[in-house]
Amino acid sequence: MSKFIATAAIRGARKLVAQAEEMLEKAIAEKGKDLAFEFPDTAFYLPMVYAMTAFPVKTLGDMRVALGYAKELLHDEPEEHIWKPYLGEALDSGMATLFAEEVILALRYVYGLEPCKDPETGYVYNGFISDTIQRNLGIQLVDGTMPGFAAIIGAAPTDDIAVNIVRELQEKNILTFLSGQSNGDSVTKQLLRKGVELGWDSRIVPLGPDTEHTLYALDWAIRASLIFGGKKPADFKGHLKYQKDRVFAFAIVLGPLDDIKWTTGAGAINMGFPAIGDTDVPVIHPTGVCTYEEVDKELDHTKIVQKAIEMRGLKITVEKPPIPVSYGPAFEGERIRKEDTFIEFGGQRTPAFEWVRMREMEEIEDNKIVVVGDKWQERYEKGGQLPLGILIEVAGRKMQKDFESVIERKIHSNINEAQGVWHMGQRDINWIRISNNAKKEGFTLEHLGLLNATMTHHRFRSIVDKVQVTLFIDEQDVKKHLEEARAAYKERDQRLGSLTDEAVDTFYSCLLCQSFAPSHVCVITPERLGLCGAYNWLDGKAAFEIDPTGGNQPIPKGECLDSKYGRYTGADEYLKKATGGAVETLNLYTIMENPMTSCGCFECIIAIIPEANGVMIVHRGHTGMTPIGMKFSTLAGTVGGGAQTPGFMGVGVNFIASKKFLFGDGGIKRIVWMPKSLKERIAEDFKKRAEEAGVPDLLDKIADETICEDSEKLLEHLTNVGHPALSMDPIL
Ligand code: SF4
Ligand code: ZN
Repeated sequence: MSKFIATAAIRGARKLVAQAEEMLEKAIAEKGKDLAFEFPDTAFYLPMVYAMTAFPVKTLGDMRVALGYAKELLHDEPEEHIWKPYLGEALDSGMATLFAEEVILALRYVYGLEPCKDPETGYVYNGFISDTIQRNLGIQLVDGTMPGFAAIIGAAPTDDIAVNIVRELQEKNILTFLSGQSNGDSVTKQLLRKGVELGWDSRIVPLGPDTEHTLYALDWAIRASLIFGGKKPADFKGHLKYQKDRVFAFAIVLGPLDDIKWTTGAGAINMGFPAIGDTDVPVIHPTGVCTYEEVDKELDHTKIVQKAIEMRGLKITVEKPPIPVSYGPAFEGERIRKEDTFIEFGGQRTPAFEWVRMREMEEIEDNKIVVVGDKWQERYEKGGQLPLGILIEVAGRKMQKDFESVIERKIHSNINEAQGVWHMGQRDINWIRISNNAKKEGFTLEHLGLLNATMTHHRFRSIVDKVQVTLFIDEQDVKKHLEEARAAYKERDQRLGSLTDEAVDTFYSCLLCQSFAPSHVCVITPERLGLCGAYNWLDGKAAFEIDPTGGNQPIPKGECLDSKYGRYTGADEYLKKATGGAVETLNLYTIMENPMTSCGCFECIIAIIPEANGVMIVHRGHTGMTPIGMKFSTLAGTVGGGAQTPGFMGVGVNFIASKKFLFGDGGIKRIVWMPKSLKERIAEDFKKRAEEAGVPDLLDKIADETICEDSEKLLEHLTNVGHPALSMDPIL
């Protein structure tokens, strides 16, 4: 880092701390030092201050303490000729800057100024990133579908360059945050002018118009080590190391730099995130004594993304089918409105289905795409609605009938990841739209087959040797094959129903989250899916066939030591090894003793309510209070990080209706409270389960937030309805 940068970073930090102080004193004068503050939906106060110092800022008065920490880190502006020690001083200043920016943004929330709104376009920026969003994204961080994060600060020289940079990041599946401006313009505005879809679904998230808003991205990053990494507040070295080793972020600074950009950049560099600029950044001091590898420049905008990725040491391989539109998860969330639809299939408008069927090797021809239907090219026309049967036939030496459903479930992503093509539902309730734009780019029905063939090969390489795709578009053909498909779905469901923990001799582990939560292992059994909800036993089995050294390993069950609590010798042995001794033993079917660990991406949290002699379940996305006096976000903060926490456990939604759900503790009859939307989501399966358990009206007896949000009213309700938990053995 050259002297110029260090000086600018130190000067910028001094400015920001002074500005934060002035704003804070004004706010305290107007609103009082006891005014409570929290960012929306987080359990971590001012996350950067909290992670680094463990000080929980809860009021305006507390912000004075936070700024005190910032001031301790400030240095005097250096004199012209001595510059070598400034590296450390600039980094200190960078951290002071992050604290000051956090206070400034918090105060802007106090005054209702965040999230910012663009006065010209009315566009509302994202603002602070909630814990919920962080957890929602957890699984994509670990399974490689989101390999890294970019923060773009400033504005590109032209709108087209802005679009090209962002498209390149999207195609590489990188999540991009936008902030700041240069010369009165910004990448956000440039993309808006070009009609680019912004938001979480498209992985382009505008945080705010100023450089200070970049802090929201860093606040998001720092919570990864708190939530997933189990790093303790104040362990600043641990946090910074975690960020450097596991959070693959970098910054691209477009346009000239000012003091605030330099000092924010120094804060990011502190966290191990390099920055690359498109101007003549003075990256190396003329004497060559002090260089700083975390700052670099690339004047060619077609190379800047690649260079940033290399600087951060990211390896990205992207599989793109040979189709004429962009492709990747960033396009998965895009909607296609009716007016933009060129043609559609299914969706209760026409008969449709999608079906993966296992074949013998000699029965099919690899990569053959057939469209069956009279004059099908002519019927692919604007405003059309066609029947559509998608039959994907696969063969392979390691293929098993059980994998049909695993491969079939990926059709949704296969199709949705094409820009301008949209897919919903599955099996015989699917619905597909192709947009006018995609058609204009040359997307045809054959491409719909082709992308499924390519992606099936790619995702299931080594279990699939051959893929043949047939598209039927004549009604009588679709109906005929629909009958066969339905028979196959039914057979599959029966097979799944018969898959119990007792019926198999192997469970599967999932180690994917270890990249974020090093001591966490999900033990996945036929009757218990992974806590993120994304991996069931068949997925684990298929994944092991695809990559025998990958994140899903077989766990020989061994001997069953306790069938009520679900303790198996094989699982214990495996866990001891896989967690480096952190977990000695596991009971699969209880929350009370040696329960499964939790990483951070659980769909739901179960927590015991001793006075109700039962448990409550709250899902991610429910932002209200729960009867144990904690919101999801607070509760989640206490169970993550790969620890066993008796009385608390993260689980997947579909586990709730499993026969093994808290089997050792008395099963579903223990559930006394769940949010209404969760009840609705699981109603169908849960009612079946409740009938089997001899309590057919259980779901109605379970309280929700419309009945109570505290434990006193909860008890009253349970007594009134005669909830079975009250008469069960004591849970404690
Ligand atoms: Fe993480 Fe468990 Fe999901 Fe695997 S199954 S991705 S370990 S939460
Ligand atoms: Zn996880």
